[in-house]
Amino acid sequence: MAWREMYNKNNVFYKILRSEIPAEVIYEDDFALSFYDIHPRSRVHALAITKGLYTDFGDFTANASPQEVVGFFKAVLQVANILGVSLTGYRIFSNIGSDAGQEVPHFHMHLLGGEKLSP
Ligand code: 5GP
Repeated sequence: MAWREMYNKNNVFYKILRSEIPAEVIYEDDFALSFYDIHPRSRVHALAITKGLYTDFGDFTANASPQEVVGFFKAVLQVANILGVSLTGYRIFSNIGSDAGQEVPHFHMHLLGGEKLSP
């Protein structure tokens, strides 16, 4: 079975979604939960995870409803606005699968900013 084909509830973001593990929450709505990365790689390092159970970008984009997809990406924009990086600039990205080094198999976007980012 391909890496992304089955969602595994034994992951830390599933536990954060269920409040079994604490997180420093930035924003939450019906589609997304955003909180600070525990190991920040820039002055601002937030994560946004989907409320739905998707392993990665491919799973989410292929299988989520259009409402979920739009809602999630609008939530990421909200996070950028809340963090005050919309005017100064920021980077969003997502790791997908083993070659990208995805650690947590629940779809999430990273948001880095708050300083000049290395290329
Ligand atoms: P990935 O490599 O899957 O794209 O990134 C997973 C991210 O989740 C990493 O940047 C890592 O620091 C972060 N992370 C892992 N465990 C926790 C946790 O328990 N709490 C928070 N807030 N972030 C975590």
